[in-house]
Amino acid sequence: MSAQIIDGKAIAQKVKDEIKEEVQKLPQGLQPGLAAVLVGDDPASAIYVRNKRKACDAVGIYSEEHHLPSHTSQESLLDLIDSLNKNHRIHGILVQLPLPQQIKAESVLERVSPEKDVDGFHWMNLGKLMAGFPVFIPCTPYGIIKMLEHHKISMEGKQAVVVGRSNIVGKPIAMLLLQQNATVTICHSKTKNLQEVCRGADILIAAVGRAQMITGEMVKPGAAVIDVGINRMNSGKLTGDVEFEGASKKAGWISPVPGGVGPMTIAMLLYNTLESAKRSVGK
Ligand code: NDP
Repeated sequence: MSAQIIDGKAIAQKVKDEIKEEVQKLPQGLQPGLAAVLVGDDPASAIYVRNKRKACDAVGIYSEEHHLPSHTSQESLLDLIDSLNKNHRIHGILVQLPLPQQIKAESVLERVSPEKDVDGFHWMNLGKLMAGFPVFIPCTPYGIIKMLEHHKISMEGKQAVVVGRSNIVGKPIAMLLLQQNATVTICHSKTKNLQEVCRGADILIAAVGRAQMITGEMVKPGAAVIDVGINRMNSGKLTGDVEFEGASKKAGWISPVPGGVGPMTIAMLLYNTLESAKRSVGK
Protein backbone atom coordinates (compact mmCIF):
# COMPACT_ATOMS: atom_id res chain seq x y z
CA MET A 1 0.00 0.00 0.00
CA SER A 2 1.26 3.46 -0.79
CA ALA A 3 -0.07 6.62 0.82
CA GLN A 4 -2.09 9.26 -0.94
CA ILE A 5 0.04 12.39 -1.23
CA ILE A 6 -1.35 15.53 0.40
CA ASP A 7 -0.25 18.03 -2.22
CA GLY A 8 0.12 21.23 -0.19
CA LYS A 9 1.27 23.15 -3.22
CA ALA A 10 -1.92 22.37 -5.16
CA ILE A 11 -4.22 23.00 -2.17
CA ALA A 12 -2.41 26.29 -1.48
CA GLN A 13 -2.91 27.32 -5.11
CA LYS A 14 -6.64 26.74 -4.76
CA VAL A 15 -6.73 28.87 -1.58
CA LYS A 16 -4.72 31.60 -3.35
CA ASP A 17 -7.03 31.57 -6.38
CA GLU A 18 -10.00 32.13 -4.06
CA ILE A 19 -8.15 34.95 -2.26
CA LYS A 20 -7.31 36.63 -5.57
CA GLU A 21 -10.94 36.54 -6.58
CA GLU A 22 -12.03 38.02 -3.25
CA VAL A 23 -9.41 40.77 -3.38
CA GLN A 24 -10.78 41.85 -6.75
CA LYS A 25 -14.26 42.11 -5.28
CA LEU A 26 -13.26 44.34 -2.33
CA PRO A 27 -14.74 47.83 -2.20
CA GLN A 28 -12.92 50.45 -4.30
CA GLY A 29 -9.81 51.74 -2.54
CA LEU A 30 -9.46 48.79 -0.19
CA GLN A 31 -6.38 46.73 -0.97
CA PRO A 32 -5.09 44.37 1.73
CA GLY A 33 -1.55 45.29 2.79
CA LEU A 34 1.13 43.21 4.48
CA ALA A 35 4.35 44.56 6.02
CA ALA A 36 7.20 42.09 6.44
CA VAL A 37 9.90 42.95 8.95
CA LEU A 38 13.24 41.25 8.56
CA VAL A 39 16.16 41.89 10.90
CA GLY A 40 19.66 40.70 9.99
CA ASP A 41 21.04 38.57 7.19
CA ASP A 42 19.76 35.06 7.80
CA PRO A 43 19.59 33.69 4.22
CA ALA A 44 16.67 31.32 4.96
CA SER A 45 14.64 34.18 6.48
CA ALA A 46 15.37 36.34 3.42
CA ILE A 47 14.05 33.58 1.15
CA TYR A 48 10.89 33.15 3.28
CA VAL A 49 10.18 36.88 3.17
CA ARG A 50 10.80 37.02 -0.59
CA ASN A 51 8.41 34.11 -1.15
CA LYS A 52 5.74 35.72 1.00
CA ARG A 53 6.03 38.98 -0.94
CA LYS A 54 5.86 37.16 -4.27
CA ALA A 55 2.73 35.38 -3.06
CA CYS A 56 1.19 38.74 -2.10
CA ASP A 57 1.89 40.11 -5.60
CA ALA A 58 0.27 37.08 -7.20
CA VAL A 59 -3.07 37.63 -5.43
CA GLY A 60 -3.15 41.43 -5.49
CA ILE A 61 -2.13 42.07 -1.88
CA TYR A 62 0.08 45.13 -1.39
CA SER A 63 3.30 44.28 0.45
CA GLU A 64 6.28 46.14 1.77
CA GLU A 65 9.51 44.90 3.29
CA HIS A 66 11.39 46.53 6.15
CA HIS A 67 14.86 45.07 6.19
CA LEU A 68 16.86 46.22 9.21
CA PRO A 69 20.55 45.54 9.94
CA SER A 70 21.47 42.77 12.41
CA HIS A 71 22.71 45.29 15.04
CA THR A 72 19.24 46.99 15.19
CA SER A 73 18.21 47.79 18.76
CA GLN A 74 15.01 46.49 20.28
CA GLU A 75 13.84 50.07 20.73
CA SER A 76 14.11 50.99 17.07
CA LEU A 77 12.41 47.75 16.04
CA LEU A 78 9.55 48.52 18.46
CA ASP A 79 9.32 52.04 16.97
CA LEU A 80 8.92 50.52 13.53
CA ILE A 81 6.20 48.17 14.79
CA ASP A 82 4.40 51.16 16.38
CA SER A 83 4.43 53.04 13.08
CA LEU A 84 3.15 49.98 11.17
CA ASN A 85 0.40 49.53 13.77
CA LYS A 86 -0.81 53.06 12.92
CA ASN A 87 -0.39 52.74 9.14
CA HIS A 88 -3.82 52.41 7.48
CA ARG A 89 -2.28 50.94 4.32
CA ILE A 90 -1.12 47.92 6.38
CA HIS A 91 -3.54 45.23 7.60
CA GLY A 92 -1.01 42.58 8.54
CA ILE A 93 2.42 42.75 10.17
CA LEU A 94 4.77 39.84 9.88
CA VAL A 95 7.97 39.78 11.94
CA GLN A 96 10.22 37.12 10.47
CA LEU A 97 11.76 34.89 13.14
CA PRO A 98 14.37 34.27 14.40
CA LEU A 99 15.41 37.72 15.60
CA PRO A 100 19.01 38.59 16.59
CA GLN A 101 20.03 37.83 20.18
CA GLN A 102 19.88 41.42 21.48
CA ILE A 103 16.15 41.52 20.71
CA LYS A 104 13.53 39.83 22.86
CA ALA A 105 11.20 38.20 20.36
CA GLU A 106 8.33 38.01 22.89
CA SER A 107 8.40 41.80 23.40
CA VAL A 108 8.31 42.40 19.66
CA LEU A 109 5.50 39.93 18.96
CA GLU A 110 3.53 41.43 21.83
CA ARG A 111 3.93 44.91 20.37
CA VAL A 112 2.24 43.99 17.09
CA SER A 113 -1.37 45.12 17.29
CA PRO A 114 -3.52 41.99 17.83
CA GLU A 115 -5.75 43.31 14.99
CA LYS A 116 -2.78 43.15 12.58
CA ASP A 117 -1.19 40.00 14.01
CA VAL A 118 -1.79 37.89 10.89
CA ASP A 119 0.74 35.29 12.08
CA GLY A 120 -1.44 34.76 15.16
CA PHE A 121 1.59 34.86 17.51
CA HIS A 122 0.39 37.59 19.92
CA TRP A 123 -0.38 36.18 23.37
CA MET A 124 -3.88 37.62 23.15
CA ASN A 125 -4.54 35.78 19.92
CA LEU A 126 -3.03 32.54 21.24
CA GLY A 127 -5.21 32.89 24.35
CA LYS A 128 -8.32 33.47 22.26
CA LEU A 129 -7.45 30.46 20.13
CA MET A 130 -7.22 28.38 23.27
CA ALA A 131 -10.60 29.63 24.47
CA GLY A 132 -12.12 28.78 21.09
CA PHE A 133 -12.61 32.37 19.80
CA PRO A 134 -9.64 32.85 17.50
CA VAL A 135 -8.99 36.26 15.93
CA PHE A 136 -6.23 35.00 13.66
CA ILE A 137 -5.35 31.32 13.58
CA PRO A 138 -1.55 30.84 13.27
CA CYS A 139 -0.80 30.13 9.61
CA THR A 140 0.99 26.77 9.79
CA PRO A 141 -1.59 25.08 12.07
CA TYR A 142 -4.40 26.63 10.00
CA GLY A 143 -2.80 25.26 6.83
CA ILE A 144 -2.62 21.79 8.36
CA ILE A 145 -6.34 21.81 9.18
CA LYS A 146 -7.12 22.94 5.61
CA MET A 147 -5.02 20.06 4.24
CA LEU A 148 -6.88 17.51 6.37
CA GLU A 149 -10.23 19.04 5.42
CA HIS A 150 -9.34 19.08 1.73
CA HIS A 151 -8.79 15.32 1.86
CA LYS A 152 -11.92 14.84 3.99
CA ILE A 153 -9.81 13.23 6.71
CA SER A 154 -12.14 13.13 9.66
CA MET A 155 -10.68 14.37 12.93
CA GLU A 156 -13.62 13.72 15.23
CA GLY A 157 -12.96 10.94 17.72
CA LYS A 158 -9.56 10.22 16.17
CA GLN A 159 -6.31 9.79 18.07
CA ALA A 160 -4.08 12.71 17.06
CA VAL A 161 -0.43 12.86 18.10
CA VAL A 162 1.52 16.11 17.75
CA VAL A 163 5.29 15.81 18.09
CA GLY A 164 6.61 19.24 19.12
CA ARG A 165 5.16 21.81 21.54
CA SER A 166 6.26 25.20 20.21
CA ASN A 167 3.93 28.18 20.56
CA ILE A 168 3.84 28.66 16.80
CA VAL A 169 3.16 25.10 15.61
CA GLY A 170 2.84 22.30 18.19
CA LYS A 171 0.56 23.89 20.79
CA PRO A 172 -1.80 25.69 18.38
CA ILE A 173 -2.25 22.67 16.08
CA ALA A 174 -2.98 20.53 19.15
CA MET A 175 -5.62 23.07 20.17
CA LEU A 176 -7.21 23.13 16.71
CA LEU A 177 -7.33 19.32 16.55
CA LEU A 178 -8.96 19.32 19.98
CA GLN A 179 -11.55 21.80 18.71
CA GLN A 180 -12.22 19.36 15.88
CA ASN A 181 -12.98 16.74 18.55
CA ALA A 182 -9.82 14.68 18.13
CA THR A 183 -8.24 13.13 21.22
CA VAL A 184 -4.86 14.82 21.28
CA THR A 185 -1.49 13.81 22.70
CA ILE A 186 1.37 16.31 22.62
CA CYS A 187 4.92 14.91 22.59
CA HIS A 188 8.23 16.67 23.19
CA SER A 189 11.88 15.98 23.90
CA LYS A 190 11.13 14.39 27.29
CA THR A 191 8.36 12.09 26.04
CA LYS A 192 8.93 8.43 26.88
CA ASN A 193 8.20 5.71 24.32
CA LEU A 194 7.72 8.16 21.48
CA GLN A 195 7.67 5.35 18.95
CA GLU A 196 4.80 3.62 20.70
CA VAL A 197 2.81 6.83 21.20
CA CYS A 198 3.17 7.74 17.52
CA ARG A 199 2.10 4.26 16.48
CA GLY A 200 -1.25 4.90 18.14
CA ALA A 201 -1.94 7.97 16.00
CA ASP A 202 -4.66 8.16 13.37
CA ILE A 203 -3.35 11.64 12.67
CA LEU A 204 0.37 12.24 13.23
CA ILE A 205 1.81 15.75 13.08
CA ALA A 206 5.61 16.04 13.09
CA ALA A 207 6.83 19.52 14.08
CA VAL A 208 10.26 18.98 15.59
CA GLY A 209 13.02 20.15 13.26
CA ARG A 210 14.95 16.86 13.20
CA ALA A 211 15.51 15.35 9.80
CA GLN A 212 13.58 12.13 9.18
CA MET A 213 13.14 11.25 12.86
CA ILE A 214 9.66 9.79 12.28
CA THR A 215 10.28 6.45 10.62
CA GLY A 216 7.90 3.97 9.01
CA GLU A 217 7.81 1.85 12.19
CA MET A 218 6.29 4.82 14.04
CA VAL A 219 3.34 5.11 11.67
CA LYS A 220 0.03 3.31 12.20
CA PRO A 221 -1.20 1.67 8.99
CA GLY A 222 -3.60 4.04 7.24
CA ALA A 223 -2.70 7.10 9.37
CA ALA A 224 -2.62 10.67 8.06
CA VAL A 225 0.94 11.96 8.45
CA ILE A 226 1.63 15.69 8.24
CA ASP A 227 5.27 16.70 8.08
CA VAL A 228 5.90 20.27 9.23
CA GLY A 229 9.68 20.03 9.58
CA ILE A 230 12.03 21.90 7.29
CA ASN A 231 15.58 20.63 7.56
CA ARG A 232 18.42 21.38 5.19
CA MET A 233 20.68 18.42 4.41
CA ASN A 234 24.43 18.77 3.78
CA SER A 235 23.64 18.41 0.09
CA GLY A 236 21.53 21.59 0.33
CA LYS A 237 18.32 19.61 -0.25
CA LEU A 238 15.34 20.17 2.05
CA THR A 239 13.87 17.30 3.99
CA GLY A 240 11.14 16.96 6.59
CA ASP A 241 10.90 15.36 10.03
CA VAL A 242 9.41 12.23 8.48
CA GLU A 243 11.36 9.52 6.69
CA PHE A 244 9.16 9.68 3.62
CA GLU A 245 10.09 6.39 1.93
CA GLY A 246 9.24 4.22 4.93
CA ALA A 247 6.33 6.27 6.25
CA SER A 248 4.57 6.51 2.89
CA LYS A 249 4.39 2.70 2.70
CA LYS A 250 2.41 2.62 5.96
CA ALA A 251 0.39 5.86 5.94
CA GLY A 252 -2.98 6.40 4.31
CA TRP A 253 -2.09 10.03 3.51
CA ILE A 254 1.21 11.86 3.78
CA SER A 255 2.39 15.40 3.10
CA PRO A 256 5.78 15.79 1.42
CA VAL A 257 8.61 18.25 2.11
CA PRO A 258 8.97 20.42 0.16
CA GLY A 259 5.52 20.96 -1.33
CA GLY A 260 3.43 20.17 1.76
CA VAL A 261 2.88 22.41 4.78
CA GLY A 262 5.25 25.19 3.59
CA PRO A 263 3.05 26.50 0.73
CA MET A 264 -0.05 26.18 2.95
CA THR A 265 1.56 28.41 5.59
CA ILE A 266 2.02 31.17 3.01
CA ALA A 267 -1.51 30.75 1.63
CA MET A 268 -3.01 31.11 5.12
CA LEU A 269 -0.91 34.22 5.77
CA LEU A 270 -2.53 35.77 2.70
CA TYR A 271 -5.92 34.58 3.90
CA ASN A 272 -5.42 36.19 7.33
CA THR A 273 -4.27 39.44 5.69
CA LEU A 274 -7.40 39.52 3.52
CA GLU A 275 -9.57 38.84 6.58
CA SER A 276 -7.85 41.67 8.45
CA ALA A 277 -8.46 44.09 5.58
CA LYS A 278 -12.13 43.10 5.46
CA ARG A 279 -12.48 43.58 9.21
CA SER A 280 -10.90 47.04 8.95
CA VAL A 281 -14.01 48.17 7.04
CA GLY A 282 -16.40 46.13 9.16
CA LYS A 283 -16.91 43.28 6.63
P1 NDP B 1 10.91 24.46 17.94
O1 NDP B 1 12.37 24.22 17.90
O2 NDP B 1 10.37 25.69 18.56
O3 NDP B 1 10.20 23.21 18.68
C1 NDP B 1 10.61 21.91 18.43
C2 NDP B 1 9.84 20.98 19.32
O4 NDP B 1 10.30 19.64 19.06
C3 NDP B 1 10.04 21.22 20.81
O5 NDP B 1 8.81 21.19 21.47
C4 NDP B 1 10.94 20.07 21.27
O6 NDP B 1 10.68 19.61 22.57
C5 NDP B 1 10.54 18.99 20.29
N1 NDP B 1 11.60 17.99 20.17
C6 NDP B 1 12.91 18.19 19.96
N2 NDP B 1 13.56 17.03 19.91
C7 NDP B 1 12.63 16.06 20.09
C8 NDP B 1 12.69 14.65 20.14
N3 NDP B 1 13.81 13.99 20.01
N4 NDP B 1 11.55 13.97 20.35
C9 NDP B 1 10.36 14.63 20.48
N5 NDP B 1 10.25 15.97 20.43
C10 NDP B 1 11.38 16.67 20.24
O7 NDP B 1 10.42 24.30 16.44
P2 NDP B 1 9.14 24.88 15.64
O8 NDP B 1 7.89 24.35 16.22
O9 NDP B 1 9.30 26.32 15.44
O10 NDP B 1 9.40 24.18 14.22
C11 NDP B 1 9.45 22.78 14.07
C12 NDP B 1 9.88 22.46 12.65
O11 NDP B 1 8.88 22.95 11.77
C13 NDP B 1 11.19 23.11 12.20
O12 NDP B 1 11.83 22.25 11.30
C14 NDP B 1 10.73 24.34 11.47
O13 NDP B 1 11.66 24.76 10.49
C15 NDP B 1 9.48 23.83 10.82
N6 NDP B 1 8.50 24.86 10.51
C16 NDP B 1 7.91 24.78 9.29
C17 NDP B 1 6.96 25.69 8.91
C18 NDP B 1 6.35 25.56 7.57
O14 NDP B 1 5.72 26.48 7.10
N7 NDP B 1 6.47 24.40 6.91
C19 NDP B 1 6.55 26.78 9.81
C20 NDP B 1 7.15 26.72 11.11
C21 NDP B 1 8.11 25.79 11.44
P3 NDP B 1 10.99 20.51 23.90
O15 NDP B 1 9.88 21.50 23.98
O16 NDP B 1 10.97 19.51 24.99
O17 NDP B 1 12.33 21.15 23.68
